[in-house]
Amino acid sequence: MAARWLIKNATVVSMDPEIGILERGDLLIEDGRIARLGFDLSCEDASRIDADRMIAAPGFVDTHRHVWQTQLRGVAADWSLFDYSVTMRNAFPACYEAEDAFLGNYVGALEALDAGVTTVVDHSHLQVSEEHTRALADGLRRAGIRGVYCVGLYANPRLQPGGALDQGQLFATPEQAAAQRDLVERFREHHFADDGGLLRFGIATTEWVATTPDAVADEVAWCRRLAPATISTHVGMGLGEDLRVVPALAERGLLGDDLLFVHGAHLSDADLDALARQGGFVSSTPETELQMGMGFPVVDRVAASGKEPSLGIDIVSNFAGDMFSQMRLMLQAQRFQDYEREGRLPLNSRRPAAEILHTATQGGATAIGLGDLVGSLRPGKQADLLLVRTDGIHMAPVNDPVAALVFYANAADVDTVMVAGQLRKQNGRLVEVEWPKLRCDLEDSRDRILRRFAAMPLTQLRELWAPIWEGLTEPPA
Ligand SMILES: [Zn+2]
Repeated sequence: MAARWLIKNATVVSMDPEIGILERGDLLIEDGRIARLGFDLSCEDASRIDADRMIAAPGFVDTHRHVWQTQLRGVAADWSLFDYSVTMRNAFPACYEAEDAFLGNYVGALEALDAGVTTVVDHSHLQVSEEHTRALADGLRRAGIRGVYCVGLYANPRLQPGGALDQGQLFATPEQAAAQRDLVERFREHHFADDGGLLRFGIATTEWVATTPDAVADEVAWCRRLAPATISTHVGMGLGEDLRVVPALAERGLLGDDLLFVHGAHLSDADLDALARQGGFVSSTPETELQMGMGFPVVDRVAASGKEPSLGIDIVSNFAGDMFSQMRLMLQAQRFQDYEREGRLPLNSRRPAAEILHTATQGGATAIGLGDLVGSLRPGKQADLLLVRTDGIHMAPVNDPVAALVFYANAADVDTVMVAGQLRKQNGRLVEVEWPKLRCDLEDSRDRILRRFAAMPLTQLRELWAPIWEGLTEPPA
């Protein structure tokens, strides 16, 4: 693989305020980084990529995805949050062998790359064994994506296909919780001692909807002993006790920018202020939040607090894994809310498309501590970028390249993807991926998972969870 690339004649949407947009601009990539960005660049020993009629943009940064669910496309299409919590979190994990976990994460990361997502936070709650935990990491590494692998502290219910079920099996015992901590600690020590590569170590917390402030504080302090890049947690979905989490951490001086609060639509402005002052980022996942009633996406309120918001895709078990659709949905939903707030139709729209593109790139990078490394195209930064074709019937002519990316493009328009200067997609195809064979492997894995799933005691599981859920979703007195 060439160490030097010269990308010629692209419309460069840099997302760097000092550089802006370059028409017919060039990028010189050397040793994985952007060495130069400008006009009429030349370099004799660089491999040349002709980017005429293409937009060059920074790779997207997805700050929340459960990558393992690749085999389950469409199963969650009409689900509520209750359906998801019961079925996906309780039943499906027991249907994955380690080999399925590898394939889910490998193909899921390839799907992300194919759509120009070059960095992902994998909030991984499929840690049913050490073997699974290693296989999931292997999948991400094999795909060559940048990101944070947040290993789950959540002890999945040990239900087995065809097995009997009682209420006692729904929650982790103290022994199971301790064993899960041991698993994460051993994995960090033996399989993830080095944070120098593309993939960094992170932790996905237990679910904090039914816990005490002291337990939350204890868990955060425990996580920090392992020096994770990111501690990812679901919060502020309108469930149970999760609104006490931010005040509890703030009071104890435990907030910090290693914390990534996911969803957070129900967080108060005071909570968001606390994150802006004391530390803590937010990832909003518009499509699942709107589908499952988790509240109106919090992106705009986070920005108002002075903190960079970020976007996540969450799950491909109910929709596509590209950032184009999330940007579009978020921006238009936000514009709708702006009009509602104003109470009358203003003369001009207030919200530019460039804002959401910033959130999907630099915003995400900043939220996981990589803001100086990726998120925009600027000399010195890592060469994580995509080239988007604009010659298709749904794209041409381009009058505004930002609008082309936010409102018209889809994953199939992504011609080229680089991570740290390494080609992951070229001429519209993933590099070094034999897709027909891989697709067969994925379909075989899907068949095995669904066969096991058919034997899960789903009706009983829903009956056991329904009263617990009622308690979690009761409006506050
Ligand atoms: Zn999630």
